[in-house]
Amino acid sequence: MDREELILREFNLYPLWQQRRKAAPAFTEIASEVTQLIVPQGDNVEPQNNHTGNIKELNWSQLESAVKNCTACSLRAGCTQPILGAGAEQVDWLIIGDVPSAEEDIQNALFVGQAGMLLDNMLAAIKLKRSSNVYLTSLIKCHPLDGRPTAVEEIAQCLPYLERQITLIQPKLIVVLGKLAALTLLGSNTAATTLRGKVHDYQGIPLIVTYHPDYLLRAPLEKAKAWQDLRLAVSTMRGRT
Ligand code: SF4
Repeated sequence: MDREELILREFNLYPLWQQRRKAAPAFTEIASEVTQLIVPQGDNVEPQNNHTGNIKELNWSQLESAVKNCTACSLRAGCTQPILGAGAEQVDWLIIGDVPSAEEDIQNALFVGQAGMLLDNMLAAIKLKRSSNVYLTSLIKCHPLDGRPTAVEEIAQCLPYLERQITLIQPKLIVVLGKLAALTLLGSNTAATTLRGKVHDYQGIPLIVTYHPDYLLRAPLEKAKAWQDLRLAVSTMRGRT
């Protein structure tokens, strides 16, 4: 058994990956989900800034405090606490999801439970570990009550926190696991089918979009594509180091 087979077996991709390598990529299922979350075209209204200070000037501890005490949008009323993220403050790999789930809200941590275990396995396969060489965060810091869709205004209020995190971390590569985060960071509201499988650019940082582990738990046949994306991420990172 070669090393690749061992890795693929570890997170349940073998022999699926072997079979699906030959198959044409399809992204239709995620695309249909994305259409519910896309910022409407032409809705580029400049939102009112509900923050009291300039988020662009905050250091890490100030940012943590600002997020902890934030009430800039209505999401705060329905969550237990905002979740900034976790990991070393300066790492090469930044992983971004969409919104905290109810379980994450209760545990005050991102990527927990079954999805978290799957993510840990995926990261381990490319020699990453959440507590050491990767930072995990999300686009929206507060769990939307009842899992309701996030409003454009709420995204606009919370996005500056993520932007500040990216500036402070200065990652060499961003991997986006959420559809909403991908569309927001890339300023895209079309063609979610084209987001996977390529290297995008976010302000000079390569950005790769792949499936959220929650989605992979619901659609395990797509794990092979996630593995393709991770391989793309690794090869992209090699070109940056
Ligand atoms: S979602 Fe973001 S902007 Fe809204 S209250 Fe929570 S931390 Fe503040």
